[in-house]
Amino acid sequence: ERLRLNQWRDRDTVTLDGREMPLLANIGSGAEGELARQKGAQGVGLFRSEFLFLDRDTCPDEEEQFAAYSQVVRAMAGRPVVIRTLDVGGDKQAPCLGREGDSSPLGCRGIRLSLARPDLFRPQLRAILRSGALGPVSLMLPMVTAPWEVRKAREILEECRSELQSQGREPGEVRVGIMVETPAAVVLADELALEADFFSLGTNDLTQYTLAADRCRAGGAYDPRHPAVLRMIRHTVEAGHRHGLRVSICGDLGADPDLTETFLRMGVDSLSISPEFILPLRELISGLDLSEDRPAE
Ligand code: PEP
Ligand code: MG
Repeated sequence: ERLRLNQWRDRDTVTLDGREMPLLANIGSGAEGELARQKGAQGVGLFRSEFLFLDRDTCPDEEEQFAAYSQVVRAMAGRPVVIRTLDVGGDKQAPCLGREGDSSPLGCRGIRLSLARPDLFRPQLRAILRSGALGPVSLMLPMVTAPWEVRKAREILEECRSELQSQGREPGEVRVGIMVETPAAVVLADELALEADFFSLGTNDLTQYTLAADRCRAGGAYDPRHPAVLRMIRHTVEAGHRHGLRVSICGDLGADPDLTETFLRMGVDSLSISPEFILPLRELISGLDLSEDRPAE
């Protein structure tokens, strides 16, 4: 089984009729980049940067973050790397953030915290910009609910860029994507598309907030396959495409093999998943033929 799957390691992910569906990795540390490559990742679609902040009393500074991000960029050797800015959800502990560290899922997290705490946001943006000089790096903003948040984040990013330049450091070209993981972002997808370079659907939080069901509590009403969630995914893909944006899925639902064909037919452009699912999913996609009719869902 291992051997059979390994033959898929260094290939692109393409259906029998020629549709590409790049499979990228979700990771949480600098070292995991190399591991993801070994598991056949065509890039990193979600670097959960909050893992650098957990279970410690002082936050990682710009240099420490730069070391982690550049490690991943080097491991990916020219393949895309998407770094998500800080997002400590209700399921994680980050004492270094102080009072704001133990956030509720409805609290000051993601982009809200970053905009409220420039002392945290700026060093992170500077580290991301510097790693962008070493390869194709994008940043991704979590928990976005409105266009002004993206505009404000871009403003601060540009300030950090000029600051680096005036200090003689080389910032890279860094594209700015947003996570679509709140119902507000789905409803405003057309407006948000004007501010963003790409969309990535965070189906874990999107399910939680759409169904009012705790993502950490098993056996409850939390169901990422709920028709409301699937319809929101479709709506987001259509809105993104209307504006020429690529739309990816980076929540756990992206690795559900029963939905792979549905996502392909919806037009989802790439999937970012836990590294261990990459080879099995590549094998599955390589055997699909979308030119065969199937009633749309
Ligand atoms: C998501 O919400 O689906 C997601 C990918 O982000 P996280 O699981 O880290 O909240
Ligand atoms: Mg999320």
